[in-house]
Parts: sequence; C-alpha cells; structure tokens
Amino acid sequence: MRKPIIAGNWKMHKLAGEGARFLMDLREKLPEAEKVDTVVCSPYIHLPLLTEAARDFPVSVGAQNMHFEDSGAFTGEVSPEMLKDILVEYVIIGHSERREMFGETDESVNKKTRASFNHGLTPIVCVGESLEQRENNETFTFVEQQVKNGLDGVTEEQLKQVVIAYEPIWAIGTGKTATSEEANDVCAHIRQVLKDTYSEDVAQAVRIQYGGSVKPANIDELLSKSDIDGALVGGASLEEDSFLKLVEAGA
Ligand code: PGA
Repeated sequence: MRKPIIAGNWKMHKLAGEGARFLMDLREKLPEAEKVDTVVCSPYIHLPLLTEAARDFPVSVGAQNMHFEDSGAFTGEVSPEMLKDILVEYVIIGHSERREMFGETDESVNKKTRASFNHGLTPIVCVGESLEQRENNETFTFVEQQVKNGLDGVTEEQLKQVVIAYEPIWAIGTGKTATSEEANDVCAHIRQVLKDTYSEDVAQAVRIQYGGSVKPANIDELLSKSDIDGALVGGASLEEDSFLKLVEAGA
C-alpha cells in the first residue's frame, strides 16, 4: 500500500518566523509518520528555520523550486546541494506557476528531477492541463507527455520514490476543484502510463497527489479514490487548522 502524502505549498506567503511558529504549533498534533507523510514547502529563506523547527517531529520540509546544477554562475538560483545541506527533503518541480510565469519547460523539469535524485531529494513533479486543453479533450495526451518528458532517464529505483502532483491549472487557486472522478481518471491514466513505460512495480510504487483547491471539505472524497495518494495544497495549507485537518484526513 502506498503511504498518503499531504504537502503544503505556501508559495510566496508568510514571513520566516511565522512559518517556524506554524510548525512549532503543530508539534504535538501531527499524526505519526507511519501513517502519513507530512510536508511543508516554503520559500527558500524560511527553509533553515523550518528544518530546525521540524527536528524530532513527523514533518518534512520542501523547497518550491531549485536549479539543476550543483553550483556555478547562476545569479539568484539555489542548488540541490544547498537544499540538502540544510536538511531539506523534498522539492516541488515544474509547478504550473513556474511553467507559466518563469519559463519552466518539460526539459528543465527533467533536468531538475534527475538532479534531485543525485542529491537525495525527493521530487514532487507537477503536471496538469489548462482549461482549454481540457475542453479540447487533450488532457490525457498532454499530461502523459509531461510525465514521460519529466521522468525521462530516471532509473527504475529512483522512479519508485517520485511523487507526481496532478494539478489541473484551471483548479489552482480558483475554488474550482476537479470532481473526484475527474481527478482520479487522470491519476489512473498517469499510473497506466508508468506501467506501460516502465513496469507494474513502478506504477504501484509511485505516489500521485491531486492538487487544485483542496480543502478540508473535499479531501476525504478525493483520498477515497483508487489512484489518489495525497494532495498538494496551496491556500488551505496556510492556516494551521485546515492544514492539520488535511493531514489527519491522510492518516
Ligand atoms: P490551491 O493551490 O490549493 O490554492 O488551489 C494548489 C497548488 O498550486 O499547488
């Protein structure tokens, strides 16, 4: 059985101290790590404080992006090695906001995914279609291509560690959630693609999250579906109460 994984994506919200307090407040409340993986993905400058605050309790810290090179003349960038050095465990790769606003492509997603494994970071690889693509019935083929391109060249053993976040762009931050059936259909298709491209073992091991206006009111329904193993949550991860409810739903 795949362990559920609930990840908060704070995007560009909270000051570092607020983030650390958020984690400290959840200290006694989070479910055990055996039941659910809890991840908080913050802006870069919060990360050292958060990994310190998260010590000795069941929460992992993730970055929202990184560069794929180890070091070099890349002004403004942060390397996988730097993240690993401060005990970051996860990294979101190819979020639709980065694809749309910061020129991220399947190619850069692939480089970053491979780099994350070279440094022992677990990637949360984001895929998802636009409203136009959904209306043109292109969802399956588009998402399939994103998955294949993003994971190209990753070894089978590494693939089993990958987390894929299926996030339809039209559902992000809009209050519009895909129905649990719509979400599950795409997650099941992704699993089929993993089986056809790699193996049944890989398909069964990879955890696939749904993301897009997930909140306490819809999490149970989403998690009850066969191929949804967790959630990547923006807005509802910013409040301690709602984040805790989401994590509890996963446990
Ligand atoms: P949302 O964001 O939960 O606010 O829709 C999800 C995401 O962008 O990961």
